[in-house]
Amino acid sequence: MPHSAGGSSHSGGSHSGSSSRSHSHSSGGHSGSSNSSRTSSTPFKGSRRYLYYQDNKPCLIYSNYDIRKMKVMPIVVWIIYFVFLFAPFMAMFSFFAFKQLHVPKKVTYYQNKKVEYVIEDNIDVLENEKALKKSMKEFYEKTGVVPAVITVDNETWNQDYKDLEKYAYDVSVKRFPDEAHWLIIYSTNIKDNGFDDWHCEIMQGDRADAAISAKHGEQFNEALYKRLLQRSDYSVDEALAQTFDEFTPKMMTVSLDNTFSFFGLLFVNAIMAGGAAWTLIDTIRKAKVPEKYKKAVLCDLNAVYQGSCNFCGGAYIIGMHTECPHCGGALPPQSYVQDPQGNVIHIFNSNAEPKGT
Ligand SMILES: [Zn+2]
Repeated sequence: MPHSAGGSSHSGGSHSGSSSRSHSHSSGGHSGSSNSSRTSSTPFKGSRRYLYYQDNKPCLIYSNYDIRKMKVMPIVVWIIYFVFLFAPFMAMFSFFAFKQLHVPKKVTYYQNKKVEYVIEDNIDVLENEKALKKSMKEFYEKTGVVPAVITVDNETWNQDYKDLEKYAYDVSVKRFPDEAHWLIIYSTNIKDNGFDDWHCEIMQGDRADAAISAKHGEQFNEALYKRLLQRSDYSVDEALAQTFDEFTPKMMTVSLDNTFSFFGLLFVNAIMAGGAAWTLIDTIRKAKVPEKYKKAVLCDLNAVYQGSCNFCGGAYIIGMHTECPHCGGALPPQSYVQDPQGNVIHIFNSNAEPKGT
């Protein structure tokens, strides 16, 4: 089964053995990150020989994968890493970061229930209840949380309770089971022993959590405490009213329970996202088929002979092409004889050269 009848081309030359090599661009591992895909300038187990052209010259390379196809494995490996390593950590960090974020939601008290502002002054320390009630009303209108103020004598609770907090808890549960109240209990000793032994406790119903963040609650408490310490400047009701007035506009703003954790976690996430993106870009870059391999052909010939195109003068491997790989010009098909395996066994004309000289 032969072929070729006539034609030109340079010929002549002899078998140059199996290790005929091109000007070799590829000595050793050209294989990206995947250790299973390998190319080499010399044959190795499981490899096949490919022919490609670069700088108008034929090059041969041995590879255990199809160099004309994108290497999929490294990308699959990247995806596995991402899904099982990066993504869970990033999701976890994001979860904890956004847990720090409190976006307030106004509490819907009761649609058909008139709001009652409880001000219960059992020890007669509140001077201007009207002004206090106004401040409490504004607080409710903004947040949907109903404030209540109760003042007691230390003796009402210090026999039965370890501290005011326990007492305030019981009062809150009994008096305000709607869980939408913000109860402030102020307690002091009525008997004047020359020392003002006062206590103050705030109880926040569970439903109020939607509107009042832990951070805002804490800030409110601190501000109230500071005013209550300055009894020469503020009466108890003034301290309460002014603290309500100060915090009413702030309560519904977004707050962070822990600013450091929030930004720290986001920063770690940004680094991980950057690392993931960088490795993905690098993996794709390495997995892509290099331009020079795109038109490569399998070349199992025992020996290769090089001819040159009559049109462009470019070098090509005889027996591998019907058209010039450089200019596309028709190649003379008649100058050689092939065996059934495609090996060139005879070259008629005499200016072909064995490749690699
Ligand atoms: Zn050509």
